[in-house]
Amino acid sequence: MDTPAAIRTFDLRKVYGSRAAVDGLNLDVPRGSFFGFLGPNGAGKTTTIRMLMGLAPPTSGGIELLGLSMPAQSLEVKRRIGLVPDDSLLFDHLTGLEFTEFVGRMYGLARPLAKERAGELLELFELDDEPGKLIGDYSKGMRKRVAMAAALIHRPELFLLDEPFEGVDAVGARLMKEILLDQVRHGATVFLTSHVLEVVERLCDRVAIIQEGKLVLSGAMAELRSGSETLEDVFVRVV
Ligand code: ATP
Repeated sequence: MDTPAAIRTFDLRKVYGSRAAVDGLNLDVPRGSFFGFLGPNGAGKTTTIRMLMGLAPPTSGGIELLGLSMPAQSLEVKRRIGLVPDDSLLFDHLTGLEFTEFVGRMYGLARPLAKERAGELLELFELDDEPGKLIGDYSKGMRKRVAMAAALIHRPELFLLDEPFEGVDAVGARLMKEILLDQVRHGATVFLTSHVLEVVERLCDRVAIIQEGKLVLSGAMAELRSGSETLEDVFVRVV
């Protein structure tokens, strides 16, 4: 039997007032891909990813994640995906370790396992050198890193990230990229939005570009770039 796609959307729409932020979007994200979701400001990227995350209800159309339909099977879906929204919910009065362990407990991990994995993740994300520091005192880049660490604690099969590198310095971004690539190497699917085309170009094997809520281009990175074109050239050409 074929493995279902990581993400499929069917004529997905989200209307705010009289304007469609997402306007009949059909996405197909294969399992195991590192997928970049691009578009100019206001194109509908955040609106789309929030619908995929179950944070905003679609006006119409359908969503399937890992072959399960949203929102009907959202509980099962949420057990198997990891989320890093642009404004992740963090608890300022917890340390990074406490927060990550807490998220693990929410995903149903037994306390010793949650604690063990939280420790490993904090080390992996290089957040372990000031163990007593509260998230409220973290820098923006550290907040992004702890949000990503916590989102990985239940070993998600699909990882959805909205602008994960925004406000993160080069060293932190390098670390996050390595960790994401490693997730893909181990069979997970990564779907992210980003404004930084060079980052997407280097990391992603597939991309989709939207404009005014509609898909304008989608496919394998290698096929989209004709000749010596960079992703930026492609982007400027189509939007
Ligand atoms: P950016 O790159 O600037 O972050 P984006 O591609 O993520 O943009 P969205 O944030 O999805 O774009 O916005 C798409 C459109 O929907 C915009 O015109 C925006 O003003 C509108 N929009 C988004 N959220 C809301 C909301 N809660 N209420 C009304 N309009 C909204």
